[in-house]
Amino acid sequence: MDDCVFCKIINNEIPSTTIYEDDDIKAFFDISQVTPGHTLVVPKKHVQDIFAYDEDLAERVFKKIPMIARAIKASNPKIIGMNICQNNGEIAYQSVMHSHIHLVPRYSKDDDFS
Ligand code: ADP
Repeated sequence: MDDCVFCKIINNEIPSTTIYEDDDIKAFFDISQVTPGHTLVVPKKHVQDIFAYDEDLAERVFKKIPMIARAIKASNPKIIGMNICQNNGEIAYQSVMHSHIHLVPRYSKDDDFS
């Protein structure tokens, strides 16, 4: 998709802080960090939202979430939990219309980040 910011990140046309990449997904830091380490996992195939996944794509993308979550957690001993969420549709606060999964690390002193 020509005007999709995440397609441009996947194609290295605009920069990102990438923490993992393979044939199916790219995982990079959200530009607006809710907490330090806030990561987006994005399928390389442009699909708008959860309703556009077939089973094969869902398996290839979602099975990697635990591995990426563990890697983020292992990167900082202060991470003691994590919110994982996905917004689908404007009504659900999706603002980038290329499906993505948010991984938001949680710390005992989360209040320090507000
Ligand atoms: P929301 O904006 O409500 O979180 P989404 O679930 O669609 O909606 O999330 C899109 C996310 O993409 C936002 O958290 C935003 O900060 C992030 N984002 C937008 N542009 C970039 C970019 N160039 N690099 C990294 N993250 C980006």
